[in-house]
Amino acid sequence: MTPENRFRTIVDQHMCISCGLCASLMGPHKIEMAVSDHKELRPRVAGTLTNNDFTKVQRVCPGVRIEGPELQTTPVNGEKTDLVWGPYLRMVHAHASNSTHRWEGSTGGVLTALATMLLRTGKVAFVLHVKASDSNPTFGVSTMSFTEADVLQAAGSRYGPAAPLSRLAQALEMDQSFAFIGRPCDVSAIGNLAEFDERVARLIVFRLAFVCGGPTPSLDIDRMIARAGVNPEQVVEMRYRGRGCPGPTAITTADGNTVYKRYSDFLNTDGRTWPMHFRCKICPDGIGERADIAVSDTWPGGVPDPTIGDADSGTNAMIVRTLKGLELVQEADAAGFLTLGNDFGPEGMDLYQPHQRDKKYAAWARIRGLRGAGRLFPHTKRLRLRDLASRMPREFNAEQSRGTKDRSQALVPEHIDLSYFKAPDVSLSRTVQEEK
Ligand SMILES: Cc1cc2nc3c(=O)[nH]c(=O)nc-3n(C[C@H](O)[C@H](O)[C@H](O)COP(=O)(O)OP(=O)(O)OC[C@H]3O[C@@H](n4cnc5c(N)ncnc54)[C@H](O)[C@@H]3O)c2cc1C
Ligand code: SF4
Ligand code: SF4
Repeated sequence: MTPENRFRTIVDQHMCISCGLCASLMGPHKIEMAVSDHKELRPRVAGTLTNNDFTKVQRVCPGVRIEGPELQTTPVNGEKTDLVWGPYLRMVHAHASNSTHRWEGSTGGVLTALATMLLRTGKVAFVLHVKASDSNPTFGVSTMSFTEADVLQAAGSRYGPAAPLSRLAQALEMDQSFAFIGRPCDVSAIGNLAEFDERVARLIVFRLAFVCGGPTPSLDIDRMIARAGVNPEQVVEMRYRGRGCPGPTAITTADGNTVYKRYSDFLNTDGRTWPMHFRCKICPDGIGERADIAVSDTWPGGVPDPTIGDADSGTNAMIVRTLKGLELVQEADAAGFLTLGNDFGPEGMDLYQPHQRDKKYAAWARIRGLRGAGRLFPHTKRLRLRDLASRMPREFNAEQSRGTKDRSQALVPEHIDLSYFKAPDVSLSRTVQEEK
């Protein structure tokens, strides 16, 4: 099999989560991000790949490789590890102190406030994150924010396709300190890359993640827009949420009209399962285990309270995972960028994120189902997946494996040679073994 075909296997087997890192590292003459038939951003082979190119991509690609944080040689004082929620130093409620940050932000504007502080204090030269795309209004696009106004412009969640790491190589070339904000899988990819590129540890001085249930498939977004009475072809601007929490979904069309829908009405799935990409259904880390700080919503049960509506001003839950993250939060509190609320424990995250808790318990069995079906699967380490699965009834695990196997066979009908996709051996000698 050629290196190009081996690479295409990642996409064909539905393991690509569109981070954009492969394209960024290889350059557009080898791999470019392009809009697929299903209106998703996917990498496309544009030139010849060498065996070394493929090996490099395979080792960094978060579609096929997701790991927890490196084991610390010296334990961090006060660090706890929850079986579901992973390592943390503090779990605390917070919101941006600045009312504009809080208002514009997706939840309580914590990520916008932290990014603003990092720029203002000169801790970073820029922030690499995602803003709304001008050319594809439902998409997000990777952006470097050098000013506070840039950061504010990128506030809010982009649920459509985005490739948050598509400018990572360019950002590293600039040889300046920066912060990254993105999905847990993007942050994981950065951790993978750090093994091969010393600039990652030196230049990416903060890694911030939001807790992530997965982007919404693009065609489903179009269906939601159509259900709101708008022709998706006419959309010129799309704001999914923010301006309150969750704030309304605002769809602006070429004639200048804006249709507002309540966020929960816009996403209404008519009792069906929340639309999600296959890879996200087996996600082993949607909770940002490799980030300095992971932030989430705080709706009990994981959905907004319909009696409060869109006008809640918004409060985030923060999982502070590293010493660097803890110091950043303390400084943001002292300097008036963040207003901290009360501390809470893992049971708080269980309350706010039951879908993440459930997925974490199911991940090992789901990935095993994929493996049993002879499909490509993500190699995982240090995420406690097997331990979590061992707490579940045997029938539950069997059902999760069977369901994933069936879905994978429907999606990817052909067996292919996966012998090239062995677990990367780069870190086996110094960390715990791959989770089998
Ligand atoms: C696809 C997706 C799934 C999510 N799933 C969950 C979930 O399961 N549970 C939960 O509690 N919260 C989830 N969220 C996160 C939630 O919507 C808020 O983004 C989070 O609470 C941060 O709030 P904030 O007010 O601090 O964010 P803001 O201050 O508004 O900052 C948001 C930051 O995220 C960046 N960003 C926005 N969209 C993307 C994207 N697609 N990729 C990379 N970076 C992006 C922006 O550039 C900005 O810097 C999800 C968000 C997205 C985009
Ligand atoms: S590196 Fe990212 S964009 Fe490339 S194949 Fe993997 S998940 Fe997809
Ligand atoms: S659900 Fe998991 S795999 Fe999917 S985008 Fe979010 S972090 Fe990545």
